[in-house]
Amino acid sequence: MPVTDPVQRKIAQYHLLYVKICRKCNAKNAYTAKKCRNCRSKNLRPKKRETKNK
Ligand SMILES: [Zn+2]
Repeated sequence: MPVTDPVQRKIAQYHLLYVKICRKCNAKNAYTAKKCRNCRSKNLRPKKRETKNK
C-alpha cells in the first residue's frame, strides 16, 4: 500500500532507514540504541541508507 501523504512518507522512511542492526543476531534496534535489545551486544551497525526518490 503506497503512502501518499508526504509527512507520513517521511515518518515511514525515518523508521525504515534510521535503524541499527546487530552484527551478532541481526536484530533491529533504535538508531539511538547503544547496545542490542536482543543479545545486548554493542556490535551494532547503522542500516545502509539509500535515497529513493519515488
Ligand atoms: Zn543482537
